[in-house]
Amino acid sequence: MPDCIFCQIIEGKLPCAKVYEDDLVISFLDINPVNTGHTLVVPKSHYVSLFDTPPDLLQACIEVSQKVARAVFKGTGASGLNIIQNNFRSAGQLIDHIHFHLVPRNMHDGFFTSWPGKPYPSGELEKTLKKIKAEL
Ligand code: AMP
Ligand code: ZN
Repeated sequence: MPDCIFCQIIEGKLPCAKVYEDDLVISFLDINPVNTGHTLVVPKSHYVSLFDTPPDLLQACIEVSQKVARAVFKGTGASGLNIIQNNFRSAGQLIDHIHFHLVPRNMHDGFFTSWPGKPYPSGELEKTLKKIKAEL
């Protein structure tokens, strides 16, 4: 995909701080990290989101994420790590080439520790469950 920054990195047209690469997947440091060592895992084929990426490629991404996450965790001396994968603008996706964020975490690092969860109003859980299951 010519306009895609990650495709340009994969093709070697743009530089990156490469952490890992194999036939299917590349991993490099995020240029604007939440925390030092924030790393991206990116399939080498251009797919936009979780929804259009073939399952075998997702599997490869998760396997690389586990391998690289172990290295990020140990290499940065972090005490925690989040894997985050954003789909579409409303969920914070800025680059339309699927990728996984590996974010090393430490206590009081200023990122999130909890999100504003709230209980369902009466009857909503059952209705929502029915709608989701109907799509499976
Ligand atoms: P997202 O919001 O999930 O699409 O995340 C895109 C991420 O890509 C952001 O965290 C950016 O900092 C990162 N990013 C953008 N351009 C580059 C680049 N050239 N090299 C490394 N990371 C990048
Ligand atoms: Zn791309």
